[in-house]
Amino acid sequence: MNQRIVVVGAGPGGLTAAMILAARGFQVQVFEKAPQVGGRNAALRTGQYVFETGPTFLIMPGILEEMFHLAGRKLADYLDIRALEPMYRLDFGDGRRLEPSCDAARMRAEIERLFPGEGNGLDRYLAREKEKFDRLLPCLRVPYLRLRDYLSARMRRALLYLDAHLSLFGELGKYFRDHMLRLAFTFQAKYLGMSPWKCPGTFSIISYLEHYAGIHHPIGGLHRISHAMAKIVAEHGGTICTSTPVRQLIVRDGRAVGVELSSGETVPADAVVVNADIGHAICNLFPRSALRKWTPEKLRKKKFSCSTFMLYLGLDRRYDHLTHHTIFFASDYRRNVEEITDKLVLSDEPSFYVQNAAQTDPTLAPPGHSTIYVLVPVPNNRSGIDWKQQRERYRELILGLLERRAGLTDLARHIQVERIITPHDWEHGANVYLGATFNLAHSVDQMLYFRPHNRFDDIEDCYLVGGGTHPGSGLPTIYESGRIAADLISRQYAQ
Ligand SMILES: Cc1cc2nc3c(=O)[nH]c(=O)nc-3n(C[C@H](O)[C@H](O)[C@H](O)COP(=O)(O)OP(=O)(O)OC[C@H]3O[C@@H](n4cnc5c(N)ncnc54)[C@H](O)[C@@H]3O)c2cc1C
Repeated sequence: MNQRIVVVGAGPGGLTAAMILAARGFQVQVFEKAPQVGGRNAALRTGQYVFETGPTFLIMPGILEEMFHLAGRKLADYLDIRALEPMYRLDFGDGRRLEPSCDAARMRAEIERLFPGEGNGLDRYLAREKEKFDRLLPCLRVPYLRLRDYLSARMRRALLYLDAHLSLFGELGKYFRDHMLRLAFTFQAKYLGMSPWKCPGTFSIISYLEHYAGIHHPIGGLHRISHAMAKIVAEHGGTICTSTPVRQLIVRDGRAVGVELSSGETVPADAVVVNADIGHAICNLFPRSALRKWTPEKLRKKKFSCSTFMLYLGLDRRYDHLTHHTIFFASDYRRNVEEITDKLVLSDEPSFYVQNAAQTDPTLAPPGHSTIYVLVPVPNNRSGIDWKQQRERYRELILGLLERRAGLTDLARHIQVERIITPHDWEHGANVYLGATFNLAHSVDQMLYFRPHNRFDDIEDCYLVGGGTHPGSGLPTIYESGRIAADLISRQYAQ
C-alpha cells in the first residue's frame, strides 16, 4: 500500500486509528510531542512508583477487544484484564457506603441493605436502560458527516429513548426515590465532566454500561493499553516518533498534504489524522485561513467540561481498608457540582475520587508500598483561578480530606514521592484547551452531527479522533472515533 498516513498525537484515539490503518497496509507515521505514548492515558512514573496519568476505569473491554481484532490481534495476548468486584465504593459522607456490583442479585441486595424498599427499581432500570442502550449504541458507532444522517432509520429507532428532555438526575427519578441512590447512578456524569442536573438523561447509559459490563483493570495499569497499541503499530510496520511535536498541518488547495514538525522538517502525507486535543488543534495546528466551521472564535462560544486537580502519592505503606476505586461525595454534592460547572469557584468541601490500585495490582509499587491517585473535579480555566497561588492550599485541603474522610492516618509521614497536576498544567503542559480534561461538553447541541466530525469539514483529507470529536470522551467512544476515522480512510482508498 502506498498511501502515507500521518497521525498527530499518540493518545488512545490516534493509536487506535494508527494500529488499524497499519494492519490494513497503509504507511503510518505517528508524531507525538511527549516523550512517551498514551497522552492523558500515559504512565506517570516517579521513583519506583507507577501511576495512571488519567483513566482508571476501563468500561466495555469488548470494544477494545474489537479494535485489537480489527488490527489482526487478540487482546488477551497483550493484556491481562481483570473485572473488579465490587466495582467501586461510594462513600456518601453520612456513614452510608454503597458497593455497586454488576451482578444484579448482589446489587439488589446491596440497595436493599442501604435503601430498603428501593430494590425493585433496579429491575426496572436494567430493563429500560437495556432497551435504550441497544438502540443508542449503534448510533454512536457511525459517523455523522451530514445533517441527514440524523434522519436514518437507526436514529429514528433511538429517538424515543434519547430522554434528552430530562436531566440525568431527573431520568433516574423514574426508578429510585432516594436522592443518594440516584447519585449512585448519575455521578458518572463526572466522566463527561458534567453535572447530573444539566447532562441529558441520555447518559444514563453510562451507569447502565457499568452494571451491564462491569469495571475492569488491566494488570500494570490502563496505560498498558496504549503501549500495546503502539507495539501493534510497529509490528505492522508503522513508526511512532515521540518527543516530536507537530507545528502545523500543511494545507494546499483545501487539502491536508502533510505536517510541519517543530524542527522545521516537513512530512508529506495523503491524509492526516489529528488526535491532539481538538480545542488546541483548532487554535494552533490548522492554518487559520483554512478554517470555516470550527474557528477559534466559534470555539470560544462552546461549552467545555470541568477540569481536574490531580494528586499522585507514592507511599511506603498500604492502606488495605480502601478499595481499588472509592468516590467520596461532598455532603452538599449539588452545591459542589454547581461550584464546578456554574459558579466556577473552588469548593472548600469538594467531592473526590481515590484509586488505591495496590488492592488489585502488585506491579505498581514495591512490596508493602502503594500508589494513591486522587482526582478532584474543579472548574476549567474559564474560571480565571490562579493555580500558582491555589496549588499548595488545595494540596493541604486534599491531604486533610484523605486523612479525615478516607482514613489514611499519618499519611504525610508515608509519602515517598508526590506529583500534582493542576488545570493550568493540563492546559499549558499537556495542550488541553482550557484545561477541560474531558473535552467539549456532551450537551445535545454538541453531540453527534454537532460534535467535530471524524472527517474534518474544513480541510479535506484531514480526520479527527479523540475525546473532543464524535462520539465522545470516554475510552470506548474514543476507540470508536479512531475506528470510524480508519474506516473512512480505508473506504476512500477502497481497502
Ligand atoms: C484525569 C482523567 C481521568 C480520566 N478517567 C477516565 C476513565 O476512568 N475512563 C475513561 O474511559 N476515560 C477517562 N478519561 C477520559 C479519556 O479517556 C482520556 O482523557 C483519554 O486519554 C483521551 O484520549 P484522546 O485520544 O482524546 O487523546 P489524549 O490522551 O489527549 O492524547 C492526545 C495526544 O496528542 C499529543 N499532542 C498534542 N499536541 C501535539 C502536537 N502538536 N504534536 C504532536 N502530538 C501532540 C498529546 O501529547 C497527547 O499524547 C479521563 C481523563 C482524564 C484527564
